Amino acid sequence: MEQKRPLIISGPCSAESREQVLSTAQALAATGKVDVLRAGIWKPRTKPGNFEGYGITALPWLAEAREITGLPITTEVANAKHVEDASKFDLDMFWVGARTVSNPFSMQEVAEALRGTDKMVYVKNPVSADIDLWVGGVERLMACGIKNIGLIHRGFSGYGAGDLRNAPMWHLALEMRRRMPDLPMICDPSHICGNRQYIQDIAQQAADLGYDGFMIESHICPEKALSDSKQQLTPEDFAKVIENIKWRAEKSDSESFQNAILGLREQIDSLDRQILQLIAQRMNVAEKIGRIKRENNVRILQTIRWESIAERTLARSASLGLSVEFLQTLLDAIHVESINHQNKIMKE
Ligand code: PEP
Ligand code: MN
Repeated sequence: MEQKRPLIISGPCSAESREQVLSTAQALAATGKVDVLRAGIWKPRTKPGNFEGYGITALPWLAEAREITGLPITTEVANAKHVEDASKFDLDMFWVGARTVSNPFSMQEVAEALRGTDKMVYVKNPVSADIDLWVGGVERLMACGIKNIGLIHRGFSGYGAGDLRNAPMWHLALEMRRRMPDLPMICDPSHICGNRQYIQDIAQQAADLGYDGFMIESHICPEKALSDSKQQLTPEDFAKVIENIKWRAEKSDSESFQNAILGLREQIDSLDRQILQLIAQRMNVAEKIGRIKRENNVRILQTIRWESIAERTLARSASLGLSVEFLQTLLDAIHVESINHQNKIMKE
């Protein structure tokens, strides 16, 4: 069966100058791997004092990039004024950012400003792992008569997420897909990763899960980027990432049974990855405890503490729907591994 062509959106995190936008756009267009050019014009920054985008000044740069490359253009809109300004330049597509989707008032304002548009509007997942908020964002757009809606999975923020900037929590994105099966869902590996070295791997995971495309940040000179410098790719590296992605064909003999199995297996794989990640994180914490114990000359095994953990966990066996036997085995394995990690620390 023929592979459905994925949508590829790329461009800088922020439009920083006419030259930066045009040179990035031309280099991207030359790769032949981009369908839509992106650039942030209004940047929602976590802290004040950081580069917040050039606003309406930058819109002509994007329009010129479209003229030169022939590629459609898109930007993030976060309030009614943004939509009004962007409309003056007839942007081809919009996206609503994670922070805006997190705020129902803002989401409502944007939906009303976009009322009746036939342009494609992509909705990023909210910052927190709250599927209903994501669904709510889409519903607000639908209620304003917007028919062409897509989803962007950019990961969820959390304290100490590990190597990645935003935890992908693939199972949540898959749940969103299950709830809104008619909407295309693309992946934004740039904001999931926060660092360009992980992008290929995350993009492949998304491809394996059957996403409909990607939004990937690229910059003519990532080191000089005024925002998200570490995660942006040069147009050349972006092209390599796209080229290296293995697109797996959808099964042609797909009975509904087959599809159901596939969807469930994807959830299993994603959950397994998360379980291992969490166990690794747990071992990290155990090592920190090991260090404190060593510094204070306290022995590793704290029987009472461990007994209370085991008791608490086993008591949850019924509500978790897991057998006591299984929980016991699992806890023992975790405990042994944890002690081994602490032992290693003690010997250091
Ligand atoms: C962006 O796309 O540059 C952006 C700000 O993304 P997010 O809303 O996912 O943080
Ligand atoms: Mn960005």
